[in-house]
Formats: sequence, C-alpha cells, structure tokens
Amino acid sequence: MSYMITAECINCSACEMECPVRAIWAGPSQYEIDPTVCIECDGYFPVARCTWACPVDACVPAREEYLERAATMAAKGSPPLVLSAAQPAGRVVQPV
Ligand code: SF4
Ligand code: SF4
Repeated sequence: MSYMITAECINCSACEMECPVRAIWAGPSQYEIDPTVCIECDGYFPVARCTWACPVDACVPAREEYLERAATMAAKGSPPLVLSAAQPAGRVVQPV
C-alpha cells in the first residue's frame, strides 16, 4: 500500500519537496504519488512527510473504497475525482 493524493490538492508542490524517496510529482491535473515508489515514510519519519506538509490534507493512505468510488464516478463521466494509487500508469482515473 502507499499514500495517495486526493482531488483536494491545490498544486502547491509542498509535498513533492518533502518526500524522502521522490515518489511525488506534478501530474497533468494535480500532484500524484507513484505507489511503486512510496514507502509510506516507514523508517524515515513517524508521520508521512507528505501528510505533514500538505496544507489541505490531500495526502492520505490509499483506501480501496475511495479508489473504487472514484473509478465508478469516472466511468459515469464525472471528472477525475482522485489520482489513484492503484493505477499502474497515467494514474488519472479516466471516464470510460
Ligand atoms: S508517504 Fe512518504 S514516501 Fe510516500 S509519498 Fe508521502 S512522503 Fe513520499
Ligand atoms: S502538498 Fe497537498 S496541496 Fe500541495 S501539491 Fe501536495 S497534495 Fe497538493
């Protein structure tokens, strides 16, 4: 499991500079976390550094139910709700 960034992201870039393993980057619409790189700050910080840095609480542990809801909304044509930690590439949940 990794952390993820929700749609509340305001693209301030604070988290990107704090991540000890450079798992965060600016995606096409908002910042994203690569789930294959994120180590949840285990062994580095007692609290996830991205969570600590984010002014709008957009960095959270990946939650399957949140990702599933985002995928369902996207399938119905809603704008991307969240950048999915479960997506292997591209990472934006796109409408089908
Ligand atoms: S939890 Fe830690 S390792 Fe994962 S993205 Fe956030 S700062 Fe980077
Ligand atoms: S710190 Fe929060 S608001 Fe700023 S880029 Fe990261 S996720 Fe987005």
